[in-house]
Amino acid sequence: MARVFNFSAGPAMLPQAVIERARDEMLEWNGSGMSVMEMSHRGKEFMSIAAKAEADLRELLAVPESYKVLFLQGGASSQFAMVPMNLMGPEGKADYVVNGSWGKKAIAEAKRFGSINVTTLDAFTRAPAQDELKLSADAAYVHYTPNETIEGVEFPYVPETGSVPLVADMSSNILSRPIDVSKYGIIYFGAQKNVGPAGLTIAIVREELIEEPLSGTPTMFSYKTHAAADSMYNTPPTYAWYVAGLVFEWLKNDIGGLDKMAEINQRKAGKLYAAIDASDFYANPVDQDCRSLMNVPFTLANAELDATFLEEAKKAGLTTLKGHRSVGGMRASIYNAMPEAGVDALVAFMADFEQRHA
Ligand code: PMP
Repeated sequence: MARVFNFSAGPAMLPQAVIERARDEMLEWNGSGMSVMEMSHRGKEFMSIAAKAEADLRELLAVPESYKVLFLQGGASSQFAMVPMNLMGPEGKADYVVNGSWGKKAIAEAKRFGSINVTTLDAFTRAPAQDELKLSADAAYVHYTPNETIEGVEFPYVPETGSVPLVADMSSNILSRPIDVSKYGIIYFGAQKNVGPAGLTIAIVREELIEEPLSGTPTMFSYKTHAAADSMYNTPPTYAWYVAGLVFEWLKNDIGGLDKMAEINQRKAGKLYAAIDASDFYANPVDQDCRSLMNVPFTLANAELDATFLEEAKKAGLTTLKGHRSVGGMRASIYNAMPEAGVDALVAFMADFEQRHA
């Protein structure tokens, strides 16, 4: 068996130690006589798995007591609707800051529920600065995407929004570094990049924001429903929740917490950007201070070599490097679980490829 270095934007690599532990516990979990997949979500075994996962996530992110952690389904794409349905209120106004493709999708959904005031840029090669944000005093919330997965643009700061709650789609950078949860009203993310298998979506919501949603909101789209039932209103994605718990344990025990994780991520991304910048053959268009630690898009000087690059990379055990169809070129997603050796192998392959083809 040969596991490759998989640079997919998501679903993405999981830590090998996590997959091995899931394998070891696959047939029978901890003397329960059954697989986690077969457990009732209301039984004491699964309840203990769920509680441990939540406690570890809270510890990793230092989530204040005044926040609920909701384990949901429907992906970040459902949160694009759930946020306005629950926060917009009767006034129907919200501010959106957009510096990439996912922010645009979030707006498209929010427009169904009210009027949206947008800050955006001509080109998605940086994040707007604080003094460029067009914020309205009467907005119900401000939504932004701290890390745009497709363009590889990451905010170097947390927007200051005064008393207006800040909502962040952290799908592609959650747990990559420490954050101050208290600065946010809601943080949400799909699991399939830095957390675990696809199918689980987590929302960390300041309790005072959990109110009656817009009238007509389906039960499943109300934060109140899930908060009141401790994320067990209906059957949650139990296996994904369990694997997420293993990832949280890995972050705590094997990595040593988010400060350590951030150090490793800085080093990995630093090596890759340094290799791109040192060469005339590779290029990344993003402003230095807004370059993503997680998603590194780059182009080849000659786009006709793209297919050969991907083919040779795959033979070298470096897969899923094709850029998103909307931007072309390459993209290396280097989430927490991508070993530093994977980045080293990619950097070495890029140098060798350039030597042979430039
Ligand atoms: N937001 C961001 C920043 C993303 O990267 C993605 C997925 N690539 C999404 C939203 C959509 O997530 P999902 O597929 O979980 O709905």
